[in-house]
Amino acid sequence: MTESPNPNYLSSLESVFGFSSLRPGQREVVEILLAGRSSLAMFPTGGGKSLCYQLPALLWPGVTLVVSPLMALMREQVDFLQEKGVAAARLDSSLDAGQAQGVYGRLRKNEIKILYVAPERFANERFRHALANCQIELLAIDEAHCISEWGHNFRPDYLKLARLANQLEVRRSLALTATATPKVARDIQEAFGIVTSDVVQTGFRRANLAFHVTPCAAEERDELLKQKVAQIQGAVIVYVTLQHTAETVAGVLQRAGFSARAYHAGMRAEAREEVQNAFMDDDLRIVVATIAFGMGIDKGGIRAVFHYNLPKTVENFVQEVGRAGRDGQASHCEVLACLDDLNTLENFVYSDTPDQKTLKSVLEHVLLLGEDFDLSLYQLSRSCDVKPAVVETVLAYLEVEGWIESRGAFYAERSLRFLRGRDRVLAGCEEGERNLLAKVFATGREGRSWLHVSLEEASQQLEVPTTRIAQVLDELESYGDLLVKPSQVRRRFRRLQPTDSSQVRELSQRLGETFAGREERDISRLESVLAFLASKKCLTLSLLQYFGEEDSSTCGHCSVCRGSSAPLGERSIPELSLAELAKIQEVIAERQAALRSSRQLARFFCGITSPASAGARLKRHSSFGILSAFPFLEVLTAVQALGKTR
Ligand code: ADP
Repeated sequence: MTESPNPNYLSSLESVFGFSSLRPGQREVVEILLAGRSSLAMFPTGGGKSLCYQLPALLWPGVTLVVSPLMALMREQVDFLQEKGVAAARLDSSLDAGQAQGVYGRLRKNEIKILYVAPERFANERFRHALANCQIELLAIDEAHCISEWGHNFRPDYLKLARLANQLEVRRSLALTATATPKVARDIQEAFGIVTSDVVQTGFRRANLAFHVTPCAAEERDELLKQKVAQIQGAVIVYVTLQHTAETVAGVLQRAGFSARAYHAGMRAEAREEVQNAFMDDDLRIVVATIAFGMGIDKGGIRAVFHYNLPKTVENFVQEVGRAGRDGQASHCEVLACLDDLNTLENFVYSDTPDQKTLKSVLEHVLLLGEDFDLSLYQLSRSCDVKPAVVETVLAYLEVEGWIESRGAFYAERSLRFLRGRDRVLAGCEEGERNLLAKVFATGREGRSWLHVSLEEASQQLEVPTTRIAQVLDELESYGDLLVKPSQVRRRFRRLQPTDSSQVRELSQRLGETFAGREERDISRLESVLAFLASKKCLTLSLLQYFGEEDSSTCGHCSVCRGSSAPLGERSIPELSLAELAKIQEVIAERQAALRSSRQLARFFCGITSPASAGARLKRHSSFGILSAFPFLEVLTAVQALGKTR
């Protein structure tokens, strides 16, 4: 901290943002950046991280680039800045071609001070090209914990950001996060070259939050929740793990006379918005939600956050309870801790891990396709039966290790919907175009109301470049004769080094180990949750310690400080009955194409869908999910044993 703060930024704090003073940590970060160095800012959610880059950005001649994975937050920030008269913009997938064009034009003319982008945007060649001609004063990375394998939400595309900061010659970087353990902080520092004295951490302690852990059995939970909610006056969030639990628990509360609604990602966008608005306007008291709820919820008076199910990680827990008591008033945070929840949480982890055979087939698809190639993430995920997120991770690893280079994305199909009869549309065209269009239409696949034209196929059949076909269709759309919807997104790559099958084998082994390591870390994160819940030490102090804060004063109002804590109890692990084993055998004998490997079978029995099983409509199978109360590893072991004796 300097003695004489730069008066320039303080004056815009008042004149642009209308704030009278800085919050803890903001001054330190701003001054590190103004001095030309990179920084890591660790403030709790709502602590005011964004201002740390928004304020200095106004003083620099070039552009500040903000990378954020959350589109909704990006939009909110841009609206906020534009309202204050700051030249801010965003480039995300919701913009149409004309809007994106406008942003590129302003970027070229150096008319943008702060530009928000999603991490995927850097795969876009046009974007990288546009940036090469810009003076990037600062690269701000929101949710920077995503860069670390030790973080709870590791995203390999974040690894590329550090390399990019160098390539683009950005002057300085700012990593922002609300939840970083000491290990994660070290990873971030290393990636962006941030010295320890430039790490600014404000305390995570929230003195107004009282943490409580109440061990209970699954069947007691509804009754307990009703009693506890009745004691709270004001708004309440109840967090659950699964979408259907959100529905059932909201029903339980409604029937008991509470004003409660469910909120989860499986609901239609309008319904979700309605629930959120009612809650924000105090027309709804209780939201029973999955983690989908809460991003960007800036409601001051939430009086309680209950965890009906165990949180997935300590980081998630901190983020979720962080939504309580934003107004500084005393608020209640309680976990109804039932160890039976561990099955579901562990099953999520295990089911995500691809086996080596699967990895090998993904790699063969990717690395043996030739030098310049393109692929559909969706198709690849379907044919190899792994989640798209896993394919994405594999691709990002390959890129970080220098095997491939991402070269953007394109739409391989155009879906057409005629607003007038096809003949009449054609009759209105000039002759040359009419002939071409008639042939293009003839190559299409008829859907119920759309005609799907593959640009590549049409181009090959008609010996006309794909760009020309796209162009005539676009022109036709501009006459208002039909709607054109780009579809079937494909990603373009270049292979940077020739790869043979022995390298693929070696690579799939190494990647297999990487994924196994991730699995192990995710499981140990669950153990950290249990350790926190079972803590015999002040719960506030336990949390602070997890995030590496040295503090020793107890909070005085958590269940441990009040002496009301109870042991967590035992986890009950049921054994598979003979009837259940017989069911497993039955399904194995069906030899379903989507259930070839043991992992596929185990996922099926535990009720976890995969791209292939969803495609084969196996969710409707009478044995789907019949073993969801059992640990995944137990089911997997049984499947492997029975599969061998077949
Ligand atoms: P974070 O990203 O750390 O979760 P935000 O940057 O979204 O938090 O800030 C939270 C809220 O605090 C926003 O409404 C923001 O405008 C406000 N804010 C930030 N800094 C200040 C300040 N110095 N004075 C008053 N309000 C502030």
